[in-house]
Amino acid sequence: MANVVVIGTQWGDEGKGKVVDLLTERADYVVRFQGGNNAGHTLVVEGRQFIFHLIPSGILHTGTVCLIGNGVVLDPGVLIQEMDKLGAAGLRVTPERLAISRYTHVIMPYHRALDEARELRKGSTRIGTTGRGIGPCYEDKVCRSGIRIHDLLDPARFQEKLEANLEEKNFMLKQYFGAEPLESARIADEYLAYGERLAPFAANVSEILQAADRDGRNLLFEGAQGTHLDIDHGTYPFVTSSNTVAGNACCGSGIGPTRIHKVLGIVKAYTTRVGGGPFPCELLDETGTRIQKVGGEFGATTGRPRRCGWLDTVVVNSSIRLNGLSGLVITKLDVLTGIPTLKIAVKYRCGSQELSSVPPELKALEACEPVYEELPGWDQDIRRVRRLEDLPANARRYLKAIEELTSIPLDLISVGPGREETIVLRNPFD
Ligand code: GDP
Repeated sequence: MANVVVIGTQWGDEGKGKVVDLLTERADYVVRFQGGNNAGHTLVVEGRQFIFHLIPSGILHTGTVCLIGNGVVLDPGVLIQEMDKLGAAGLRVTPERLAISRYTHVIMPYHRALDEARELRKGSTRIGTTGRGIGPCYEDKVCRSGIRIHDLLDPARFQEKLEANLEEKNFMLKQYFGAEPLESARIADEYLAYGERLAPFAANVSEILQAADRDGRNLLFEGAQGTHLDIDHGTYPFVTSSNTVAGNACCGSGIGPTRIHKVLGIVKAYTTRVGGGPFPCELLDETGTRIQKVGGEFGATTGRPRRCGWLDTVVVNSSIRLNGLSGLVITKLDVLTGIPTLKIAVKYRCGSQELSSVPPELKALEACEPVYEELPGWDQDIRRVRRLEDLPANARRYLKAIEELTSIPLDLISVGPGREETIVLRNPFD
């Protein structure tokens, strides 16, 4: 029995969805603990593509229970749409398969409206949020005016909270942003209907986890986004609105830290980043475009092209520190096939200083120049390889370099989007 957290070590989109899906074969429970429907996991199972924004991708495994923890912010309309889509594909989402914490905060229409109005107003200084109301929902959580799942189940309380919120939000929307105010009656009708639909799924996730853990079940905690998008430890302000590091698996679901046994870091074989913010290893040349095309580096949620660059072990090593990683998973190694010479950043040069971890201030990071180690590439198609020793020598050399530069063992190597396109070195549930 093991309880495992899966975390992105870069700026998100590392391919966590596929890894979580693969590990779910051994997991009894899959838990989401932060973020909202800004995360998009893309999975290819038996040639069919599924995109998940909210429901843990573990839902595709019939024996697994999926949990949405209190640390998530949930847009009920999006969740219901996702449930209905799965239903249409023959997969019924029942309360036996999915539970939502009663403490989970709900994304309201005014959160989305404020998100959009704010980004519009910011113009060129925008941070590139997905406009789904996630940031404003977390703001209300901290401000203690948020609406939680259990409020949706109590019409009188919901109405009271909605009115109190709307008074302030409409003032902001109208007076400050010059946007349209929102109507209380329409929101109440829509959200109380959501409440009725979701009532059977509302639960005490912390208690479910405790019982499962006591029964010796395997628990898998699925992080969204990546470590360097963490609200505290990331490249602020170009970050997401929650803590993405492994510690939040505990806060965001209601399990204690001593009950976590392993933390697996997902490392894409190169680096990508969506939206603004410093990116020392960014490739603004043909190689960058090639990686973007071959890797399909376009957002699952927004379709936005991702900026691409070389693998950066300064970024990965900072993630090892912040998450206490016990093993690494290298994804998308196949995307590098055919590039004659590969580079890995081993440290940064920042004026007269050499740095081996990401500096805390944006300005300092912007001034950093990566110092690269060059490695020879490979031409052979590696997508059919299932054993490390069958990889071309230069691909093995590339992996060895990562292991040496990070001092963390590699657990899995992903050589294609499919479940089977994986080299398993150690299963974290063993
Ligand atoms: P996540 O949010 O970290 O799960 O990242 P995405 O959902 O954006 O996943 C990245 C994309 O890469 C998806 O389209 C996956 O199907 C795909 N993918 C995952 N692993 C691999 C791999 O090893 N090779 C290739 N070529 N694609 C992969």
